[in-house]
Amino acid sequence: LFSARRPVIAGNWKLNPKSIAEASQLLKLLHANFVNHRTPAQLDVEVVVFPPFPFLLEALLVLQGSGIKVGAQNVALQTSGAYTGEVSAPMVRSIGVDYVMLGHSERRAIFGESDADINKKLHLCLAEPGLGVILCVGETEDEYESKLLASVCDVQIRKGLKGVSISDLSRIIIAYEPVWAIGTGKVATPEQAQVAHTVIRNTLTDMYGYQAADSVRIQYGGSVNPENVDSLMSMPDVDGALVGGASLTADAFTRIVDGAI
Ligand code: PGA
Repeated sequence: LFSARRPVIAGNWKLNPKSIAEASQLLKLLHANFVNHRTPAQLDVEVVVFPPFPFLLEALLVLQGSGIKVGAQNVALQTSGAYTGEVSAPMVRSIGVDYVMLGHSERRAIFGESDADINKKLHLCLAEPGLGVILCVGETEDEYESKLLASVCDVQIRKGLKGVSISDLSRIIIAYEPVWAIGTGKVATPEQAQVAHTVIRNTLTDMYGYQAADSVRIQYGGSVNPENVDSLMSMPDVDGALVGGASLTADAFTRIVDGAI
């Protein structure tokens, strides 16, 4: 079946690299790869990188003309006021950021973000015209072994998208990231990813109807690399990848984009 969904590859830099000098170097290499040797994939695939906050402006500057978009890895639960240390959705949108990533398993597990927090942040992002969101969901290894994949993903989608209108759904990308596959080298098989993505699309269909659900892009994330991206993306409901470790090397990330179609 032909899917009209545009593939989307995102690079989650997490707490890397160590300095603006290193970040700038990585951005310049990415820019060169996308400007000098533009491949059909680089034109057809939506590409977004998510550097840490201090590198966002540099990313926006260096990536100009490359077609690569820039996203923020998180935003605050508030939009302004006495919240020392926070960065808001309006702030990141005002500098030209196109996406915010929400609900990453590291935010959930290490920083205690609940589905309600994630939903509140998501609404703050949707209040900013033009800002898109990657909403991450996925089960832990224990949950996977207890056959809870479907119920965990279903609940995270329903709670994460609570109150989101059908018209705003088009601004949201879902990333399915099984926690057991993140940073472990233990990538899900294409078949495992397809099963999970079907679960997620079924939940979306229940919430928004077939047509709207069919147009939502669902990325797979967890140990994606240039060698496995092609087989994952060959599955009908895998519309892209959210890449951690391999997004820190310009050539690996570029090869992943090139492998996405
Ligand atoms: P990984 O991380 O590609 O290093 O497994 C993916 C992610 O956490 O988004």
